[in-house]
Amino acid sequence: MTGTGRVVVIGGGIGGLTAAAALHRRGLRVTVLERAASLQPIGAAISLSPNALRALDVIGLGDEIRGLAAWQGDGGLRTPGGHWLSRSNAEAAAARFGGPLVLLHRATLIDHLAARLPADAVRTAADARLADPGDRHRPARVRTPEGELEADLVVAADGIHSAVRGTLFPRHPGTVYSGFTTWRVVIPLPGADFASHETWGRGRIWGTHPLQDGRVYAYAAAVAPVGGHAADERAELLHRYGDWHDPVPAVLAAARPEDVLRHDVHHIAEPLPAYHGGRVALVGDAAHAMPPTLGQGGNQAIEDAIVLAHHHDDLAAYTAARLPRTTAVARRAVKVARLNLMTGRAGVAVRDAVIAALSKAGPALFLRSFDGIADWRPPQSPYASRQAQVGER
Ligand SMILES: Cc1cc2nc3c(=O)[nH]c(=O)nc-3n(C[C@H](O)[C@H](O)[C@H](O)COP(=O)(O)OP(=O)(O)OC[C@H]3O[C@@H](n4cnc5c(N)ncnc54)[C@H](O)[C@@H]3O)c2cc1C
Repeated sequence: MTGTGRVVVIGGGIGGLTAAAALHRRGLRVTVLERAASLQPIGAAISLSPNALRALDVIGLGDEIRGLAAWQGDGGLRTPGGHWLSRSNAEAAAARFGGPLVLLHRATLIDHLAARLPADAVRTAADARLADPGDRHRPARVRTPEGELEADLVVAADGIHSAVRGTLFPRHPGTVYSGFTTWRVVIPLPGADFASHETWGRGRIWGTHPLQDGRVYAYAAAVAPVGGHAADERAELLHRYGDWHDPVPAVLAAARPEDVLRHDVHHIAEPLPAYHGGRVALVGDAAHAMPPTLGQGGNQAIEDAIVLAHHHDDLAAYTAARLPRTTAVARRAVKVARLNLMTGRAGVAVRDAVIAALSKAGPALFLRSFDGIADWRPPQSPYASRQAQVGER
């Protein structure tokens, strides 16, 4: 990077804060501009796989997060009637990928990322616009409510509806509706005794997983027209999932209507030609929004951020490192969405039979879906994590 090392990050989500922390660690002067009044994320959990945890190791945060999160993988895949199609365990997941898959509340992750930055590095209520992407000879310029900032590097981490993406690539078609909607809740479920599960029905799925703090994270997805909303989303869930196996009815009984978050899913179907332009680099959903079916959107944002810090003075190298990988992960997420949200009765019967047979013959489908993803390693990670070693828990 030419200039004096001034970095402006647009967006204080997972991607923006990880990039800011990684660039700050390299001695650059970082300012994060977040449009919202606070960094508080939505009230949902996030699963992180060993690839992202290794990326967090680079900024010294991997073990902290592993320690605060619940290990995932104990449980498996079920039918709405409760029949197990495939079972897995957390140790098998850790052994396969050299470290655990974990689940934690988004607020915990955001708090710990923000704590890696100097107190004055983050400005909230700061709606930012890219005024000029800059080039080799002149800095980029970012417009904020308090005036313009010049930057040697702009990190555009402004999420799925990224305005910066539209400015850099005006002819790109943007996002498409993925064909399904999602619901999420995080609630206490005292006395609950259940195995983690994801359950696949016809055009509908449900997952329930414990968090380390005793609360439960449940999510659901269903094929639905875009833009639908119910007056009472809990009642909507009861209607769609009320007769599914335990603990689904218990979660629905414990949730209040206001606990339920609903979001339609969109993704970028046509990859961008590059993840940079001028002095601007796109990270996370701004670059490659994908369906959440592999739980990789945030994981890939974290990978992006660490790789960007590594290549901060050569943005073409950043694109070369990230575009093929994230495109492949996003395509796999789309394929998995087609499989788990399949609607035809005959197709679902064949799908379930094949999953059950494959899982008897080898590792659970849940584990196989992470092959080539969870085993990723960051460039020249200097940080050796003890807890990430297989067998230590
Ligand atoms: C149902 C569901 C479940 C998911 N589960 C998982 C999971 O388990 N694991 C996983 O890895 N991923 C998961 N994801 C995906 C994950 O949430 C996203 O990929 C991730 O949040 C992307 O991070 P980001 O920083 O790129 O964008 P965001 O988190 O969207 O952050 C963008 C930030 O930019 C800010 N912003 C936007 N415009 C401006 C502006 N003009 N000026 C200043 N700030 C601006 C926004 O306010 C926001 O804070 C899930 C997604 C969904 C929908």
